[in-house]
Amino acid sequence: MSELSPREIEKKWQKKWKETGLYKTDFNSAARPKYYNLVMFPYPSAAKLHIGHWYNFGGADTWGRYMRMKGYNVFEPIGFDAFGLPAENYAVKTGVHPQETTYKNIEYMREQLSAIGAMYDWDKEIVTSDPEYYKWTQWIFLKFFEAGLAYRKMAPVNWCPKCQTCLANEQVKDGKCERCGSEVTKKDMEQWFFNVKKYAERLLNNENLDWPEKTKIMQKNWIGRSEGVNIDFPVFNSNKKITVFTSYPETIFGATYMVLAPEHPLVSSLTDEKHKKIVEKYIEKARHQTDIKRSATDKEKTGVMTGGYCINPVTKEKIPVFIGDYVLMSYGTGAVMGVPAHDARDWLFAVKHKLPIVRVMKTYEGDTNEIDKLEKVNEEGIMMNSGQFNGMDSKEAKKKIAEWIEREGFGKITINYKLRDWLISRQRYWGAPIPVVYCKQCEKSGNAPDGIVPVPEKDLPVLLPKNVDFIPRGKSPLHYVKDFIETTCPKCGGPAERESDTMDTFVDSSWYFLRYLSPKKNDGAFDKEMIKKWMPVDMYIGGSEHACMHLIYARFFTMVLHDLGYLDFDEPFKRLVHQGTITKDSAKMSKSKGNVVSPDEFVEKYGSDVFRMYLMFMGPFTAGGDWSDKGINGVARFIKKFSELIENNNKNKLDHQKTLNLIHKTIKRVTESIETFQFNTAIAAMMEFTNEISSDGIDMESKKIMVRLIAPFAPHTAEELWERLGQKYSVFDEEWPKFDDKYLASAEIEIPVQVNGKLRAVIRAAADEGKEKILERAKNEPNVKKYLEGAKIVKEIYVPGKLAGFVTD
Ligand SMILES: [Zn+2]
Ligand SMILES: [Zn+2]
Repeated sequence: MSELSPREIEKKWQKKWKETGLYKTDFNSAARPKYYNLVMFPYPSAAKLHIGHWYNFGGADTWGRYMRMKGYNVFEPIGFDAFGLPAENYAVKTGVHPQETTYKNIEYMREQLSAIGAMYDWDKEIVTSDPEYYKWTQWIFLKFFEAGLAYRKMAPVNWCPKCQTCLANEQVKDGKCERCGSEVTKKDMEQWFFNVKKYAERLLNNENLDWPEKTKIMQKNWIGRSEGVNIDFPVFNSNKKITVFTSYPETIFGATYMVLAPEHPLVSSLTDEKHKKIVEKYIEKARHQTDIKRSATDKEKTGVMTGGYCINPVTKEKIPVFIGDYVLMSYGTGAVMGVPAHDARDWLFAVKHKLPIVRVMKTYEGDTNEIDKLEKVNEEGIMMNSGQFNGMDSKEAKKKIAEWIEREGFGKITINYKLRDWLISRQRYWGAPIPVVYCKQCEKSGNAPDGIVPVPEKDLPVLLPKNVDFIPRGKSPLHYVKDFIETTCPKCGGPAERESDTMDTFVDSSWYFLRYLSPKKNDGAFDKEMIKKWMPVDMYIGGSEHACMHLIYARFFTMVLHDLGYLDFDEPFKRLVHQGTITKDSAKMSKSKGNVVSPDEFVEKYGSDVFRMYLMFMGPFTAGGDWSDKGINGVARFIKKFSELIENNNKNKLDHQKTLNLIHKTIKRVTESIETFQFNTAIAAMMEFTNEISSDGIDMESKKIMVRLIAPFAPHTAEELWERLGQKYSVFDEEWPKFDDKYLASAEIEIPVQVNGKLRAVIRAAADEGKEKILERAKNEPNVKKYLEGAKIVKEIYVPGKLAGFVTD
């Protein structure tokens, strides 16, 4: 391949692929089974494609090309998740409109993506910030609203008092405003939610998905289902009650105090004068902490006394009420009971605040002593100090006490989820406007509860206005665009005000895989026929950091659209694979560490095929690997050697049997390695083949097999070599080579083993088994071992495929 540089070869084939429309998927073809090969679409940031993109997209494309050659009608689309905060932040800083930066970045990224040489069907590209796309994001919102799955309620936002603006979680760094460094506080605002909690039980049911086990477990934990009991504790000297949620009802007789979330509505009425100051201070501090930080289970439970009391409903004891930041208002009832004898963190809390520690379970060994040390805290055992439940195993008592509490009427068995409804409101400009208006008149007349009037479908999209001031002034920038905000009510024709919040970008990415199948459809979000033919996605490849949010939201959307009758399946992604991470000197690449490897210079120097092949060679696809500049040279040398082997016209000097054996063994290894996403061992198998045989040369049939094997990894090189072999365009229309066991089995040979010239054994070995291995096995043959025992081997002999022998002193 001396006359063309790798870059020239790439350009040549990228052009030809484009001109001939090789990767345009015929959605209606029934000739081959469909295969929807999806990669998580990129965010068009100002930064160039980084090594992680190349790794993700290159590997996904290797898989897609392999499936294509296996006979599938593969659809491999790409698009841009184009709304979001960074473009808006950039606008605040520089004044450049987010639309301008976003579309410029997209244009640039399209070129970079082409450089990878992936078989994207560019005709199906989508950009989520295009009105043609977000019109249907808004339509889906309306469908959710009609179904009662989109609702509005007060919820806290991160608020910077100095900048007078809401901040996204990403803009809060250690509790401080990213822009000005002021302490961030919380502020309640009316916001929109999707009722994802309603689907918690169905989302939990993920066993049948062909997904990484770890991801399925992460989703289960995120949803966080727990069975328990809501128990009512009467407030001392009051007719009020506080409901506590507990998963450990069996410990109720040992509950000696209660802790409320600082936001609990009864805190102020429970707090007495003496504790008021300290309680207020504690509440203020808790406001600055994220829920995640507050509920971390490895942190000490802290709290302060309110001065109020309630009554343990089973012991009738008066117990003190605290507030503690580890209790979240959004989980359970915002109140928990403290059982110091049977919870380690409660024990520490009780000791600190000098609270009674009442043991209600002895150990299985019968220990009933006081729990005066942390190590003595037991979480199960035999019930004691628990009335009629004494002597019962705590595991049994859990159920029995729960039922008794419910029967006695001071509690109710219930199921709780950690999963919360999805807050989709963003006080941001660069997103899809939420398609509702607020009408005072309709609210008064009772035509629209809370005055919320959805924008009729025919008036979609609600376009984002272009002329906007990005300087933060307290509300979404849209709020200050008069032309946008002031509108007429579609119901009564009176004056109305538009919603100024936009939707979370995770809404855009929760359904894009449906749109790819009919990206230009203007009379519907998606084409039912195409969906029927092409969904669900057969393979979804992307980062494991999306295990919870994106991958739960996309499943939720699919379930809702299924229930509303738009889809006839309710899981979007049949199979999921997470790519690993590429590190540099074992550390994660990051700008701040200054260890970022830029793909561009290596692509320029070695070409795209060498670069992507090297990335695939670094380790199993799902594990990733460590980047080294040296390593890439090895792959470059291999591709050169491989090309020479294919182009070399030497007649095959090797024994034909050996070539066949090697070829079929290589087909087997490459195929099986790809199937398990061990692209590294597939490449290693081709390297070994090339090393083994390069000096002998191979016949035409073998050349054609090898070019097909390398094609998913080095698509440009393979296409070029295929042409040079005089074959018809394109190698990607060729079938994937099949191996034949017949050649693998026949390759076994018998090798006589001699000790000091005398035949002592015969071993069977693969024709290509290495010297070291054969000698090792020969040595361990019982009859050989016998003659070697006590002697010193002075010489080892191996005549490949013919003889093994040892000479002793
Ligand atoms: Zn600020
Ligand atoms: Zn109205």
